[in-house]
This record gives sequence, C-alpha cells and structure tokens, in this order.
Amino acid sequence: MDKVIIEGLSCFGRHGVLPEENKLGQNFIVSCQLYYDFTRAAETDDIENAVNYAEVAEFITEYVRDNVFKLIETLASRLACELLKRYGISKVEIRIDKPSAPIDLPFGTVAVSLCRRWSKAYIGLGSNMGDKKMYLDMAVNELKADDNIRLLKVADYIETEPYGYEAQDRFLNSAAEIETLYSPHELLNRLRAIEQLARRERKIHWGPRTLDLDILMYEDSIINDEELTIPHIDMANREFVLKPLCSIAPYAIDPVTGMSVKEMYERLKERSNN
Ligand code: ADP
Ligand code: MG
Repeated sequence: MDKVIIEGLSCFGRHGVLPEENKLGQNFIVSCQLYYDFTRAAETDDIENAVNYAEVAEFITEYVRDNVFKLIETLASRLACELLKRYGISKVEIRIDKPSAPIDLPFGTVAVSLCRRWSKAYIGLGSNMGDKKMYLDMAVNELKADDNIRLLKVADYIETEPYGYEAQDRFLNSAAEIETLYSPHELLNRLRAIEQLARRERKIHWGPRTLDLDILMYEDSIINDEELTIPHIDMANREFVLKPLCSIAPYAIDPVTGMSVKEMYERLKERSNN
C-alpha cells in the first residue's frame, strides 16, 4: 500500500521516568510511515490531496517537545493517534529511538515501534421508549462528535416489531458504519456511556431500551469473553439488525460463517416466510 516515509527526525523532549530526564531533556529520533491511497494526489498532482511531510515533521517535533510522558510507549501511541486524526491517513507505523536513554552500559540505541490504524466497525442502534427518533439522533450525534470515531454511513431509521417480549412498544432501528481508533472493548465502553446519557436524560422513564447500542462487527475480529461477543451473537436472527445493516453494508462478511449480510438477511426472510 502507498505510504509516505519520514526517517530519523531528531526531536528534543523531556520524556522519561527519571526526574533528571524531565528536567534536562534529550533527543528522541522519530521515524514513521504514513499510509494513504495516492490515487487522488497522483491524479491531481496537488499538495492539497497529499500528506504534506514538512507539516507532519513539524507537528511531530512540536508534539515531542510540548508533551511529557514517562514512557516512550505512551509517546508513540498518542502520537500515532494524533497523526491518524489529523492527516487523513488510514494507518501509521512509528518508531521512536531514545539513544541517550539512562542505561549504565554501552549500547547502540533503545527504541519502541508500533502500528495503529482506523478499524472498520458496524453498530446497531435501537430505541423503543419515549422519543425514539430523538434517542437515535442523539446517539448518531455522539458518534459523530467523537474524534476517535469517523462516522461513514447511517442507515435510514426503520420501525420494527418488538423482538422477544410482545407487550413492548415498536422499535426504531438503524445501523452505522464507522471507523474507529478504539479497541473493541474501548468501543463497548464508549457505547455504554452514550446509552447512559440517554437514560440520564429521561429519569422518569428509566428503562433498558431508551437506547440500545450494539457492536455488530469489528473488522474480522472474533471475540467471545464475559463482556463482549463479536460478531453480535444474535445478529443472524434479527431482522431489525439485518435490514438496516443490509442497506448500508450488504457485502460485509460475518467472519464466523463467511456469509455476507445480504445472504444472512435473505436467509432470515426465507425462514420467516416458511
Ligand atoms: P441486548 O443488546 O441484547 O438487548 P443489553 O444491551 O442489555 O442487551 O446488553 C448489554 C451487555 O451485553 C453489554 O453491557 C455487553 O457487556 C454485552 N455485550 C456482549 N456482546 C456485545 C456486543 N457485541 N455489543 C454490545 N454489547 C455486548
Ligand atoms: Mg445492547
């Protein structure tokens, strides 16, 4: 894949566990690879459509100078996320060398390296209490406002019959395609916080379904622990999940069964017709 490479950028900083390091500072050597598709840059030959490496180098220099972390792991990780948010790149690899690290032995260098990227995920949204549209709009706005999330698509809201307990009100459902810097568990926590926000807003009508946000898929991850099952465990049986999801991502693949969303949705419709 296309990438811009910056190698051996020497940056002054005060990172370190020892107080002397925070006081005196030392040089850190930053190298990075910024991945993005060159197609538009090459078509237009315009710097506006390219990553400006001079700007990136300046940003890195300032970031290393103006922040203080104990660990170069933290520095590398935070810097990677900042680059992903600022420069429209899909993936970044960073290496940070600390050649004057406090080690009382002869050594060449000590360094950390890591890779971070935007991960594709699908979220299911549902509400069946109170002002349902308002709750879904609120969730969409929260996703949009989070700078660790890029909201790519939102399915039209659809009204569906309640699933499970029939005495409930009808549901309003949607699905969203996002890219995120959150890990699956961080994303779950973020979604829980948004659900809490909906509950807090309507104290009287507290109920589990003012807003339900589920992670349907996260890249091709398969996760099954106490907190999280990805892909969502009951996705293939829920029309209210598959219908909106199919409208935005018919060819997304369930990594467990290898089936596309469209196939799952068609099979479910067949089953419910028989
Ligand atoms: P449901 O979404 O089935 O109606 P709840 O929203 O009440 O049920 O369940 C919430 C809990 O389900 C979360 O706190 C979380 O720990 C767990 N869970 C497991 N897998 C997922 C997932 N893929 N997305 C969201 N929550 C999940
Ligand atoms: Mg849920």
